[in-house]
Amino acid sequence: MSILVILEQRAGVWNRMSFETLAAAAEMGRQLGQPVLAAVAGERAAVLAAEAAAYKIDTVFAVEHPLLARYTADAYTTALEQLIRRVNPELVLLPHTYRVRDFAPKLATRFGRVLVSDAIAHRIEDGRPVLVRQLFQGKLNADVRFASAPPNFASIQAGAYRADSLAPGAAAVESFAPDLAAGRIRTQPGEPFRESQRGVDLAAASIIVSVGRGIKEKDNIAVVEQLAQALGAELAASRPICDNGWLPMERQVGSSGQTVAPKLYLAVGISGAIQHLVGMKGSKTIVAINKDENAPIFEVADYGIVGDLFEVVPALVEEIRKAKG
Ligand SMILES: Cc1cc2nc3c(=O)[nH]c(=O)nc-3n(C[C@H](O)[C@H](O)[C@H](O)COP(=O)(O)OP(=O)(O)OC[C@H]3O[C@@H](n4cnc5c(N)ncnc54)[C@H](O)[C@@H]3O)c2cc1C
Repeated sequence: MSILVILEQRAGVWNRMSFETLAAAAEMGRQLGQPVLAAVAGERAAVLAAEAAAYKIDTVFAVEHPLLARYTADAYTTALEQLIRRVNPELVLLPHTYRVRDFAPKLATRFGRVLVSDAIAHRIEDGRPVLVRQLFQGKLNADVRFASAPPNFASIQAGAYRADSLAPGAAAVESFAPDLAAGRIRTQPGEPFRESQRGVDLAAASIIVSVGRGIKEKDNIAVVEQLAQALGAELAASRPICDNGWLPMERQVGSSGQTVAPKLYLAVGISGAIQHLVGMKGSKTIVAINKDENAPIFEVADYGIVGDLFEVVPALVEEIRKAKG
């Protein structure tokens, strides 16, 4: 038995959640003594499969067919169904992306299974994986055990596992050509949606200062701007700040904004709602400044400062400037 990871790419570019999911599979594989396999379908699949083969996994399948060039749920489901029947894995893991939400329940249904969606962690009990999912906006955690025979299906939440925990290796690359017929694909993809040109690439930033509703009003944004400047950081925000138009939407971090994983993430006056956490909890070091010692952000923070941001931030700026001389 094995664990198969379905990696995601768009227009030949990796979705980095693919590698977080691969890291989850690698950890489970080690614990269960099972090989980890991966698959990538669509544009540039062979090139991307060769890239993914640089990790310590067994085999990467390049799922190639002209009808996979543009994503459709029908073609992806059928192609991956054929691959899964051939590989016969115990578990199929997918990154919990919008695309996976679109086709993965249908893929699981082809095997009479359900998709255990948006898992945040796992442990092994009696030689079998137990997945953890959040309920009621993160207020409760539920353990999910698979009652059905393999294959079982699960998707992994953004930021739940660290892609940089993947060990280098040299996996085999295999080409897999599914049997697809144009007549069975019921949707015709249109032109891909073009996002407006982003002035800021938060995903590439190594330091982010992120501001929340604790800042109280637009004019106060200057307070955190100074901290960002002192640290050479990008400025980001929680959703209410962008909804109010105090910072542009492209700076929003969270489930309906960007997913970031900088070396340092400073959360200033942010409570730590689950929709915000999913976008930043993959950061290497998290520092939270909040006047409420019970704010949920402190549960993910490596360093917490309980205090009024209007006192703490200027003091920090002064110390950083001094330290930089
Ligand atoms: C479908 C959906 C999608 C969503 N997507 C996102 C998303 O992508 N990103 C996102 O961020 N949110 C998102 N949200 C909203 C989310 O649920 C929260 O409402 C939001 O994250 C809260 O933002 P906040 O922490 O800035 O504000 P609040 O929750 O109001 O927290 C403000 C914090 O500031 C602290 N504070 C106040 N004054 C001070 C002070 N002087 N000094 C220090 N601390 C102070 C308070 O103690 C509090 O903890 C989404 C919600 C839904 C329903």
